[in-house]
Amino acid sequence: PTTFLLYCRPGFERDCAEEAQRHAPRSEIVEATENSGFVRLRTAGKPDYNALIFARQVIRELGHVETLPERDRLTPILAALPVAPEKFSALWLETPDTNEGKELSSFTRRFAPLLEEALKSAGRLAESASLPRLHLFFPNRQRVIVGSTEPSKSAAWQMGILRQKMPPEAPSRSTLKLSEAFEVLLGADQTRLLRTGMTAVDLGAAPGGWSWQLIRRGIKVIAIDNGPLKGAVLGHPLVEHLRVDGFRYRPRRPVDWLVCDMIERPQRVATLMADWIGSGTAQHAIFNLKLPMKKRVETVYTALADLRKQLDEAGVRYRLVARQLYHDREEITVYLGRAGGGRKK
Ligand code: SAM
Repeated sequence: PTTFLLYCRPGFERDCAEEAQRHAPRSEIVEATENSGFVRLRTAGKPDYNALIFARQVIRELGHVETLPERDRLTPILAALPVAPEKFSALWLETPDTNEGKELSSFTRRFAPLLEEALKSAGRLAESASLPRLHLFFPNRQRVIVGSTEPSKSAAWQMGILRQKMPPEAPSRSTLKLSEAFEVLLGADQTRLLRTGMTAVDLGAAPGGWSWQLIRRGIKVIAIDNGPLKGAVLGHPLVEHLRVDGFRYRPRRPVDWLVCDMIERPQRVATLMADWIGSGTAQHAIFNLKLPMKKRVETVYTALADLRKQLDEAGVRYRLVARQLYHDREEITVYLGRAGGGRKK
């Protein structure tokens, strides 16, 4: 068995571990300390980053040092580097997404060039995107976990976090959640799936952060909310605001996109999404499932299993990707879209 290091949102270690074990039943949790921001799992299988919702990154462990000295950390770290794989495309020094982790980031910034130099002169860094990355994860100053990821089967961002700047014109910070969802859940498909002239419905739109992401891509938005829209979204020519119930509303003509950020039970939102996509009322959907404090994994997996069943019974082909994004607090974000013509033969 191999040990894998999984990053997660601090406070979600138990959920991350529980989910990983669902996918790898005969695995063993090595470490899952509350609020540490990471989980370690020993398993004969290989946890799949793309299938996991709560893991921000999945790293194969290759070694570790538990007692780094105050001076000269370089020597023991170099000694702990694995012999294989021989070459890496990148060296990432990472810390947990916690306050303690933030305090370590000035150290990792100073330290990174030293290590990179040492790796380069040993001929172990090469410019090839398909080579694995080398990760050095510092839970604290004394400890480092060494591991690797394959670029095609892992998150493409350091610490598993896509960094974004807040656009000043957007009416709310939750605008970052939808732009992160586009980037993380759609990836390279964004240019094909988000195009000028498309139409969208935004359920629970106020004050308009998600709508803003759509109109800035030239997409027409029907914004559904009893609350007021604000800033650049209020009165925008691409926006029609309707003060109606988001669970009842249906557009007169089918739309390309449905986005939904209404605060409701996950089961109820999932059923609504399956209905829109199953009936072809929308081709693609991105929605939030707000999670209760307890039994988050069970709640998510039950809601998504029911959604899949609903679509399977309707004979619809679809693609579903779910992830707890960096901007998701007690929630996850899901992409659901009709695939390959939509209907099963
Ligand atoms: N995504 C928005 C943004 O970026 O600005 C924030 C949405 S906020 C988290 C949730 C919104 O859902 C609230 O404005 C609330 O009024 C709305 N809402 C909740 N239940 C609703 C319902 N049944 N129909 C329509 N809107 C609803």
